[in-house]
Amino acid sequence: MPHSESPPESENSPIPMANVDQEQEDAVAESTTAQVSEAQQPADEDVDMTDSNAVLSAPTNGTTHTSESKAESQTETPNNQDTPVPETATSAPSESKPATGVKLEELFDEMDSDDDEFPTTKAAKREPASSPDLLSSQSDMEIDLHEASDPEVMRTFYQRLFPWRYLFQWLNHSPTPTNDFGHREFAFTLQNDAYLRYQSFTTSDLLRKDVLRLMPSRFEIGPVYTANPRDRKTLRNSSAFRPLSKELCFDIDLTDYDDIRTCCDKANICQKCWQFITMAIKVVDTALREDFGFKHIMWVYSGRRGAHAWVCDKSARALDDQKRRAIAGYLEVIRGGAQSGKKVNLRRPLHPHLVRSLDILKQHFQSDVLEAQDPWRTEDQQEKLLALLPSDQKQLVSALRNKWASSPDRPSTLKWADIDSVAKTSTAKNFDTKSLLDAKQDIVLEYTYPRLDIEVSKKLNHLLKSPFVVHPGTGRVCVPIDVKRGLESFDPLGVPTVQSLIREIDEWKKPETKEGGQEQEVEKHVVDWEKTSLKGYIEFFRSFVIGLMKDEREIKVKREREEEGGGGESMEF
Ligand SMILES: [Zn+2]
Repeated sequence: MPHSESPPESENSPIPMANVDQEQEDAVAESTTAQVSEAQQPADEDVDMTDSNAVLSAPTNGTTHTSESKAESQTETPNNQDTPVPETATSAPSESKPATGVKLEELFDEMDSDDDEFPTTKAAKREPASSPDLLSSQSDMEIDLHEASDPEVMRTFYQRLFPWRYLFQWLNHSPTPTNDFGHREFAFTLQNDAYLRYQSFTTSDLLRKDVLRLMPSRFEIGPVYTANPRDRKTLRNSSAFRPLSKELCFDIDLTDYDDIRTCCDKANICQKCWQFITMAIKVVDTALREDFGFKHIMWVYSGRRGAHAWVCDKSARALDDQKRRAIAGYLEVIRGGAQSGKKVNLRRPLHPHLVRSLDILKQHFQSDVLEAQDPWRTEDQQEKLLALLPSDQKQLVSALRNKWASSPDRPSTLKWADIDSVAKTSTAKNFDTKSLLDAKQDIVLEYTYPRLDIEVSKKLNHLLKSPFVVHPGTGRVCVPIDVKRGLESFDPLGVPTVQSLIREIDEWKKPETKEGGQEQEVEKHVVDWEKTSLKGYIEFFRSFVIGLMKDEREIKVKREREEEGGGGESMEF
């Protein structure tokens, strides 16, 4: 998706220095586009990534591969501009707040005190009024009548099903609160589409309470900052408040495949076109692991028609914008959108990443593109294919066109095979088989290679929708995808909706006591998510988080040992 050319009006305004009364924050939404443009160059972190230099001199490079040549203007895409759910675009930035002057007594009052993490709850402190059983006491019919965005449905979901503790541990990298969580920005999209940025919390419980109070239709996760995001306006100079770290993120959305998928378009998806996401995940995941050495990569269904990747390794989180752009450029071969013409034009010999990707994608091209999508069946469609063949092989093109004229509706699988068979009979003297092979590889990549919304990956301070929130349009939960065991079988249309989950809690029955068995064992507490089809997803998330925390602890212990040991060990080398 091409990034927006013209930034919204208020985007260039620097961080306002005035302290705004926190109590008013839920009445006056933050500007969607509040931008930390002054603060975008993080200090050059000591990145433990041996490949990072290699990345800069990256691979491929045809005309569409533009990471290095692209001019990066300071005013580029606001953080939220291209997050997948379109609602954001309509959430009009509120008018900028008047400068009220810094109140000295408020300068430090949020620094380290838990109580002060409730700045906005003072005005309207109320726990959800509804009983947790409110919805489960209703009939199935009634629940289905509720929209996913119904505040009561959402309240039940956040109260009883959302995995707050694991979300906290995931972002905190430790069971006890650290700045990794406390200085992390959360942004809420409220029911009225207002967008509340720079929220932060010291614990998962405080986050949970604020979500239940504000009932956002969704919330997003931003970077960890050098200071508490709530204090940003009290800091004397803007460079004291800058993003420090964030997961490296990727976004793949099926709308970028609209020119090649024939089964659905726009917001619609089916199992057939979902295969584009499946193959994209395979290629990106493999490259991130094999070429960059990342281990902790979580893929999350975006709730409607795409997927997000969160690369959570410490070395990934510390990447500055330049390195993020380099990695994004390494992976970007093709841009989505319907612009005509050849989208892939790669330099030969192919970069090893592309050789490997082709290997992964070949099979998908046969079954998921040629057979399932049949993209060149009609006469109009076949012209798209012919246009992608080498321009100097006019004879081949016209021979194919003639052949297909006599068999209208010839399926794409056969048309693809025709290219080789007709080429073999070519009488042209200097027929260039190499250029035909290259063109065919380019076509395979054009129809299968991941189409990334690269803006999401380039910036440390880009916000991305949190895992496990509910997509307000579909009601589906943004569940993680177990790439190792369940990628091929993942069915986006089978992902539970918030309404179905609430019904499952209600329908859940205690396992029957075995005769003569011990009732006490059965009485073991079962939390609500364990009663629903969210169970597998949350358990997967939990194991992912545990793996991440374990590695994080080892990194910390190793560093401490090195510091204490005075480098004795390293002297041996
Ligand atoms: Zn489809």
